[in-house]
This record gives sequence, C-alpha cells and structure tokens, in this order.
Amino acid sequence: MSTIDYFAPGRVNLIGEHIDYNGGLVMPIALNMGIKARYKKNDNNTISFASSTHKDLVEFAVEDIPTKYESTSNWCNYPIGVLSTLHKQGLPINGFDLHFDSNLPEGSGLSSSAAIEVVTAYILMHQAGREINPPDLAVLCQKVENNFIGVKCGIMDQFAVANGKKDHAILLNCNTLDCEQIPFDLDTYSLLVINSKKPRSLIKSAYNERKAESEAALKILIDAGKLRDGQYLVDAEIEDLGVIADAIVRKRTRHVVSENIRVKHATRALKMGDLYTFGRLMNASHQSLKDDYEVSGIELDTLVETAQNIDGCIGARMTGAGFGGCAIALVKNTGISNFSKTLADRYHAVTKLHCEIYECKAEDGVRLLD
Ligand code: ADP
Ligand code: MG
Repeated sequence: MSTIDYFAPGRVNLIGEHIDYNGGLVMPIALNMGIKARYKKNDNNTISFASSTHKDLVEFAVEDIPTKYESTSNWCNYPIGVLSTLHKQGLPINGFDLHFDSNLPEGSGLSSSAAIEVVTAYILMHQAGREINPPDLAVLCQKVENNFIGVKCGIMDQFAVANGKKDHAILLNCNTLDCEQIPFDLDTYSLLVINSKKPRSLIKSAYNERKAESEAALKILIDAGKLRDGQYLVDAEIEDLGVIADAIVRKRTRHVVSENIRVKHATRALKMGDLYTFGRLMNASHQSLKDDYEVSGIELDTLVETAQNIDGCIGARMTGAGFGGCAIALVKNTGISNFSKTLADRYHAVTKLHCEIYECKAEDGVRLLD
C-alpha cells in the first residue's frame, strides 16, 4: 500500500517567557526543523508506531487501543494519547502503521513532544476525512499532554506547532487564544537557536515553584484591591507591586509584568521593521529571567552573555522554561561563522559542554507533504 507523508515543526519562543500560565502574551514561531511522519494504511486491523530515534515500538489491534498511560510504552504514549483521545471522541480508526523521522532534538525545549502529538492528531483527522481547525488541534493535544502524559504545560507549544506561518511570528494571547500573525522579516540577520545540551534536571520543581509564587502574588494583589477577580498577574501595574511584602515573590511578579510589556513593545518593533529594538528587548528579557525569575543558570548565562558581546549579534536570550534547553540570538548574516565558532569555544571553555547551533526560520505549522 502507498504511503503518505506529513510534517510537524518544532517551535521556539522569541519573547514572552513564563507568561503562558500567567494569562499573557507570547511570541513563538514554528521552526524549519521537526518530525516527518510516514503513514501507511494496512488491512490487518492493527496499529503500529515506530521512530527512527527510538528502538522500542508498539503494536496493538484496533480493538485494543490503550486508554491510559503505560510506562512500558515509553515514547509511544505521545501518539497513543492522541489516538486514544480521538477514538474516545468517536473518530473512526482503521489499521495503520506510522513511522516518525525527526531532526528535532528531543527534550531540549523545542517542543518535540508537541510536534509528535500534533502531527498524529492531524493525520488521524485527515485520514478520517474530518475538517481540521488548527487551534482546536492545539487544544486537543495540550489536553493529551496534561491529562494522558501528565505534563502540566500551557497552550503555547501545541498552538505554535499547529498554527505556524512561514516568515511570521505568532502573537498569542494565552488566555483568550486570540492570535495575530506578525511578519518576521529578518532582512540581513538570522535567527540562531543554540542548544546548550545541558539536561534540564531542575526544571520540574522550579516550574511548579514559580507557578505557586505567581498564584500567591495574584492573590495578594487581588486582596489588596490592585487587581479584580478574574484578572491575571500580567494585568498588574509595576507601581502596585509594593503591596507584595515578600521580596522574592515581588521580583517574580516584576518579571511577569515587565515581560508581558516587552512582548507588546517587541510586536511594535517587528511591525516597524526595527530589529535593533527587538534585539534590545530580547536582552532585557534575559536579564529579567536571570535576576528576577531566576530560571537561567551558568550554561544559559554563558551562552547569552557571550553571544551579546560578539560582533554582529543584536540580541540574545534564553528561551523556554530554563535551567538548560536552548538560547536564541539575532546575528548579522555575514558574521554567523565567526559568531558560531567564538560562542562554541567560549561555552566549552566554561562548561565543558559542546553546544549545537541551528540556523532557523519561521515556517508553516503542521501539514501534509506533497
Ligand atoms: P521537548 O518537547 O522539549 O522536546 P519533552 O520532554 O516534552 O521535550 O518531550 C520529549 C519526548 O517526546 C521524548 O522523550 C519522546 O518521548 C517524545 N518524542 C519527541 N520526538 C520524538 C520522535 N521523533 N520519536 C519518538 N518520540 C519522540
Ligand atoms: Mg515538550
């Protein structure tokens, strides 16, 4: 039987970090790296998942679609979670084999998990002849990651993977899911994504801690009459933060409020084609994540602070939840090779780690390949 190829990109967030669970604005792009999925219908009434980056594979009969997370299924839980959820919703499912082939690093903060979920959902809907609404696809896949996999991520990752548009950045309101595609024209500059290759070991506990601190700050501001019920932390005014007695919680809040403002300024800068201002906002975002939100670390700080001081770089910051994962930089095209070598050498000298650098572009979201 013939095969059909689909693709879902990874994503990187340009600005608006640790904002999605605080009801504010983020600005991700879908990347030119991602997961290709080869679909093949079969007539033996079975479903199988395989991946070129993992040895283990799973096969079961169409009547035996798993209904919950199984630790023995490892990575297959991601596509199984999507399959199980759509099956429960009544989507007709017939036998098929699905093979994933990826050039997206896994577990590095470029949302390979969202890519594998969204491409699976897209394929199942497409094969069933259903109309596909990308924002709905994103919400479905976020639910799978929250409830089936058990990772309490916000909506940004799945939304960017499903709704990306070539040469555009997505300005997304994480609260209302209103989105605007902003032209992302880099002119004579390029976006470099720098993988620190530092395992994100601290991230789970710190993420939960920051979420708790944000909730505490919101309650204090509501109790003090500075915010109304139903408002979000990003709605607070910087000059009202004095009512938060705890200095740590106060600076966490200052990050959230100032970062949301930076996203608005960054939107204006992109619309005016002012990349220098955009770059300065990236630098300020990093400073705030380092000093106020404290989710950076020696590896990301070394990458970003080194990058900011190399000729031709007009802005750099950590991206994603932090403590590892990736940084991004805007670099003059003619300076990329010097930038990459200088950065990699310095990073290795400080951390003994070898970073990876990818030249990235904003691309379309999940799609059928020709
Ligand atoms: P991130 O989303 O930042 O890449 P996660 O830890 O959320 O990191 O998701 C990574 C997991 O997603 C992998 O450990 C694996 O289980 C699954 N995954 C991602 N891409 C693939 C792939 N191409 N093949 C198989 N599993 C994948
Ligand atoms: Mg993920």
